[in-house]
Order: sequence, then structure tokens, then C-alpha cells
Amino acid sequence: MKQLTYKDFDNYLKQFPSPDGRFGEYGGAYLPPELEPAFQEISDAYETICHSAQFISELRRIRREFQGRPTPVYHCERLSRTLGKCQIYLKREDLNHTGAHKLNHCMGEGLLAKFMGKKKLIAETGAGQHGVALATAAAYFGLECDIYMGEVDIAKQAPNVTRMRMLGARVVPVSHGLKTLKEAVDAAFEAYLKEYDTAIYCIGSAVGPHPFPKMVRDFQMVVGEEAREQFRAMTGNLPDVITACVGGGSNAAGLFIPFLSDPVEIVGVEPLGRGKKVGDHAATITFGKKGILHGFESYLLQDENGQPDPVYSIASGLDYPATGPEHAYLHDCGRIRYETASDDEAMEAFFLLCRKEGIIPAIESSHALAYAIRYARTHATGSILVNLSGRGDKDIDYVFEHYGYGEKFLKNS
Ligand SMILES: *Cc1c(COP(=O)(O)O)cnc(C)c1O
Repeated sequence: MKQLTYKDFDNYLKQFPSPDGRFGEYGGAYLPPELEPAFQEISDAYETICHSAQFISELRRIRREFQGRPTPVYHCERLSRTLGKCQIYLKREDLNHTGAHKLNHCMGEGLLAKFMGKKKLIAETGAGQHGVALATAAAYFGLECDIYMGEVDIAKQAPNVTRMRMLGARVVPVSHGLKTLKEAVDAAFEAYLKEYDTAIYCIGSAVGPHPFPKMVRDFQMVVGEEAREQFRAMTGNLPDVITACVGGGSNAAGLFIPFLSDPVEIVGVEPLGRGKKVGDHAATITFGKKGILHGFESYLLQDENGQPDPVYSIASGLDYPATGPEHAYLHDCGRIRYETASDDEAMEAFFLLCRKEGIIPAIESSHALAYAIRYARTHATGSILVNLSGRGDKDIDYVFEHYGYGEKFLKNS
């Protein structure tokens, strides 16, 4: 494929995705015929509503007054000094209401539902982070909320189940198959099929059938738009490198897309887990190939029959066998580079940020931070901006049980 540079991206947003939801050869909408009208309705409504002055000003007000935006950009002076001369900066999405970037698209989806006159939000959740963010949006807008969740995940993620119920959502247990995320997706689709007159389906990342990869990206772009202005105001320049962790790819797309036409190096970080063997990681672009899952075409970790491989990451928000179609395209045309960080590298980054800056990061975000630390150790100058997608309060019990207070990571620093 023809390789592109930042100079080729001036008109990118006008051209991508195409009207049928394609990012080059990726994306699209592979749906059972019964669901096609429902997704078409969402797509048509979004294309109209997202340009309305009332929608734009209402979303802006919500971001300011309810979410607490803009979130700051923060210069990690002590962490940078520990590592060398390269300067590390964070975009603090951990300070967004509910503690992660996910609320950026959930509030957008909720507001769209309201404008469309829908009464209910439907979604699945795995680890429960998307469920909690969506339940928050539903409560804010006075909408019903049904969250489908595998029974295995319900048992594992008890605090998030309690949060969702406390916010007024109905958590619907899914008890067939492996009782995890995949079955929950099927169950949520089935429910949506029956209720789409009055309900809207809300995807939790920049994945799924068109228009979700575009819509979720658009709602997340506030992150990169703010960060670009804030970084310039702080330093007078743009960062040399920007980086974010990539699961489905929503926080990464949100930071990256507003920088595409700038002379900035962009690096997405995938979870290498315990290593390169099938089942030990979820590094989709690094080890996967083109395939179709959950209604869209993208890079997919799959066996020779096209069935999704088992995946693993210490970060439950990153263990998905596919990634957003826009990332697949931006990888192939060479504008964004994708690297990996292992569980251990992420955990070292986690503890360093705790000790040097007084910030407990989400383990997901720690993968992007691990890349920034590697970069700072190997580059004598420059600046790198990390999307700190979420806070780590949700992770502390697990981390303590498996890594104590991080003694093994901290002895060298
Ligand atoms: C869900 C989650 C992610 C991964 O999702 P993306 O769509 O890839 O951004 C990353 N960080 C946090 C804190 C999350 O909750």
C-alpha cells in the first residue's frame, strides 16, 4: 500500500470513513439483514444530528459542567528527570468524571438517543467499565439501561456490577456458552433486534458495524483537540511523539486523529501480555491479519478457520481479539506505528507513576506509559505526550495481590 506522511492528511476527516463506513479496505457493516434498518437509522440520525447547533452546544455544556472537561495536560517533571532528558506529558483522562475516557463517547451516545427519542440504552460489557460509563449516561439523561454481561464476568467484576445497579441500570446475566463477553455481545444484539423502535445499541469502543467506529472516534476527538491546544500553550510547540494504548482503539483514536496532519510521530501500544504465543497476548495489529468479527472488518487474531483466537492481557480493557478499522487503515498506510508493551513493562510503568508523580494509573493506560518510559530511556531529547486513559483505583486490589507494592520494579529507580 502507498505509504503516507502527515502532509497527506489535510482532508482526512472529509474522506474517512467513506459513506458506507470504510477506512480503506477495513470497516463496513456486516449485519444480519434484520438489523440493517436499525443501524441505518442510527447512521442517518447521527449524520443529521451531529451537525445541529443544539446538539453541539448541549454536548459542549455536558462536557464542561458534568464531565469536568477540559481535563489538564500535565508535565511529569520528576518521572522525566528519573529517566533522562526527554520530557513526558500526560493527558489526564483519569480526571474525566467516572475516571476514564469512556464517558466521552457514552455521553455522546446518550445525547444522540435523547435526540432520536429513544427510551433505553442497550449494551454488553466484559470487565464492566463500559457498562458503568453507559449506566452513568443513562442516569444523567433519564433513560433506561440494560447491560448484558456473562455470568462469569458478573462474578469476577462484582464492584462494577454494584456500580451499574446503583446507577439504576439492569444487569442482565448471560448464561450460555462460555458466559463471557462474546455471548454477552450476541445477547445484546438479540435484545436490540426486538427493541430497536424504542432502544439504541451503544458500543463501548471504536469498533463494531458502521457508524460506530466513526461516531465513537468523533466523540473521543475532544481529547486530542484539547491536548493539542493545551500542549502548545504550555510549551509553544507540538510534542515530538504522542502515544496511547490500543484495545478497541477509542482513546487512541481520540488523541491521535487531531494530530494526523501535524509533524508528530504517532505510536499505538498493544498489550503483549505474557509473550508472543497464541493466547498469551492481545496484540491484534502486531500479530493478526484481516478478518471479520462482530460486524466489521479489521485486523483480527484468528486461527486458520477465521475463528477468533483466545486473548489475554493483564488489562481487562485491552483483551479483545480485534481492533478498530481506522487503526488498521492508519497502520497500513504508515501514518501510525504500533508497538507492544508486556504485562511486566506495564506494571513497572504503573508503579513508577505512583511513586514519582502521585498518580495511580489504570493498567490499560500503563501500557502507553511503558512505551513512553522506553522512549525516554533511549532518546536524549524531545517530548512525548501519553493519553492517560483512566485511573487505577479499579485495579489496586489485583495489583497488590500479584505485585505487592512493586518492590521488584522499583529497586532500580
Ligand atoms: C476500556 C479502556 C481502555 C481500552 O479501550 P479503547 O477503546 O482501546 O480506548 C483503555 N483504558 C481504559 C482506562 C479503559 O477503561
